Amino acid sequence: MPHRTSGRSTLAIHGDQTARAVREPVSPPIYQSSTFVSPFGAQDEVLYTRYGNNPNQLRVAERLARLEGAEAAIFVASGMGATALAHLAVLNPGDHLLSSDWIYGGTRRLFREEFARFGIEVSFVNPDRRREWRSKLRKNTRAIFVETPTNPLMRVLDVEWLAVLAEAEGIALLVDSTFATPMNYRPLEHGADVVIHSATKYLNGHSDVIAGAVAGAAPVVEEVRERMKLWGQALDPHAAWLIERGLKTLGVRMDRHNQTGLAVATWLERQAKVRRVHYPGLASHPDHGLAAAVLDGFSGMVGLELVGGARAAGRCLRALRLITHAPSLGGVETLVSEPRFTSHAALTPDERTAAGIPDGFLRLSLGLEDPEDLIQDLARGLAAA
Ligand SMILES: *Cc1c(COP(=O)(O)O)cnc(C)c1O
Repeated sequence: MPHRTSGRSTLAIHGDQTARAVREPVSPPIYQSSTFVSPFGAQDEVLYTRYGNNPNQLRVAERLARLEGAEAAIFVASGMGATALAHLAVLNPGDHLLSSDWIYGGTRRLFREEFARFGIEVSFVNPDRRREWRSKLRKNTRAIFVETPTNPLMRVLDVEWLAVLAEAEGIALLVDSTFATPMNYRPLEHGADVVIHSATKYLNGHSDVIAGAVAGAAPVVEEVRERMKLWGQALDPHAAWLIERGLKTLGVRMDRHNQTGLAVATWLERQAKVRRVHYPGLASHPDHGLAAAVLDGFSGMVGLELVGGARAAGRCLRALRLITHAPSLGGVETLVSEPRFTSHAALTPDERTAAGIPDGFLRLSLGLEDPEDLIQDLARGLAAA
């Protein structure tokens, strides 16, 4: 038989493990140890869990590197930690960062408030105005940062186009790929230099861990690791073990999220009380063509606008019985949130409307329940709206 490389589900389950020894545990042990016995007189780095070289930390990192097609990867204490450290690995005081305007609220505050304190300048680009990427470049621009798909409009950005620009300028392209996971999209295959994840979301997948990850070339990941050691951002071994377990089902989970996402988005689009549905798998989505070309699935994230605005949203949320009102995403249970109170709370109603997120907007993170039950619950909510 011709040799083929393992598929992504196989990689997620086995990593580089080829054969197991007799009596070796099938599920790996948790090395709940801060420190490890050192050989006498050796120059090698000691094993210490804050250094990120605990076996549980190394196993889960190797798993993600393979899934992203990266030379190396590292897990840290949160998605915000991953974002901060990835940028600190490529930026110095006096450098300029060009960021997409369509980013996570915490990341925006990190750029605006914290990076300013370190003398790192940040400009924001509306990705709909493609020319701005070039016109806002400066001599000291060292990196470009984007999220794709975005929250909560699920816009899909053209990473290949940005990679050509970044390459020509000799600067780094960093992509937060939290909404896609390596099952649906692998930014490095499209020319990105660094991939960032909030592993709190789909990668772990069970709403029970806070973690983040960075993947890319070995020198960049090593820079992240140095920063992680000194800024104290290491992941706890038990959390690493839980993420490794979560990754084993990432393939089947994403298949189901993708199927349910398309089924529910298609159903929602036919409902009279829904003005608009934002899902890249729908032909009505502005990026449907690009999404269909570059994504292997459209995920379980759906945005919807209710005809009745804020009051209808309130009535709808109170009528739901199965779907839980909570922030965050990517878990087995379906969650719903209102961006006006979460990610976009800092904007005025007019600014939100201008950004395409009018009051009455709901964001769904569809879980792994039976899609019929989710649709029944949404029908109940819409009836009350
Ligand atoms: C949640 C999220 C983050 C932050 O991750 P934490 O694990 O909560 O620190 C960053 N980026 C995106 C796209 C997210 O959804």
